[in-house]
Amino acid sequence: MTTLSSSSLSLGESPTEASIAAAANAATSAALKGGADVRAVAEQLLGWHDQAVAAVRRRLPLAQALACAPGCAHCCHLKVTVTPLEVLLLAATLRAAPAALSRIKRRVKEADKQTRGKTADQRLALGLPCPLLDSEGRCVAYDVRPLSCAGTNSFDADGCRKTLAKETTEPVAHDPVLLRAASAVAAGVTEATFASRRDGRILELVAALKIALDDPEAKSKWLRGEPVFQAAVDAEFAAAMEG
Ligand code: SF4
Repeated sequence: MTTLSSSSLSLGESPTEASIAAAANAATSAALKGGADVRAVAEQLLGWHDQAVAAVRRRLPLAQALACAPGCAHCCHLKVTVTPLEVLLLAATLRAAPAALSRIKRRVKEADKQTRGKTADQRLALGLPCPLLDSEGRCVAYDVRPLSCAGTNSFDADGCRKTLAKETTEPVAHDPVLLRAASAVAAGVTEATFASRRDGRILELVAALKIALDDPEAKSKWLRGEPVFQAAVDAEFAAAMEG
């Protein structure tokens, strides 16, 4: 699933969502306190997700094969929420490929115009692909994709297609382990981020990416505790947490 190497999370024999979040919190806090670069910390997250999923699978094997496959990108038309660490890693990765950067920035800007402030339902109704999706339905930043993307999965690709085509509103059957492990890792990272006196609020991917790509000082500002991603804070996620 992931090509980047990752440090080990302390998960114990029978990890729960709470213990996965606690382990991700501890690992992120230790890395930030040790002076690790935020990019190096963010590069660990997908590996932690893999480890958490593998640990839970020892008790709860996958019920059936996933339908997800390269080039199948129905879920890349959904709203994506993301932590600031992940956005900074995505921006750094995209900047490292300058040949494609102007095109990506243009796509992000266009997508942001259409999606800014939209709820998940409104976003689905738009049917707009993520600006990081290429013409073959592959993520151009797959190795550093957000945890939300790694957690989203399906047992039924046709169900995903029908949902996107508005032919059904039935929930698509999926594996909850992948999804919940991703949320748990993100929750632990968020707690550690706030504890480090940085703004850990959950962001909407496109709006946050636009800020991170437009402002070369975004990382420095964020490290100083400035709310550089204020305009990209996901209001729907924040309301759900408060509720
Ligand atoms: S970041 Fe990549 S995996 Fe996530 S929605 Fe966008 S294209 Fe899909």
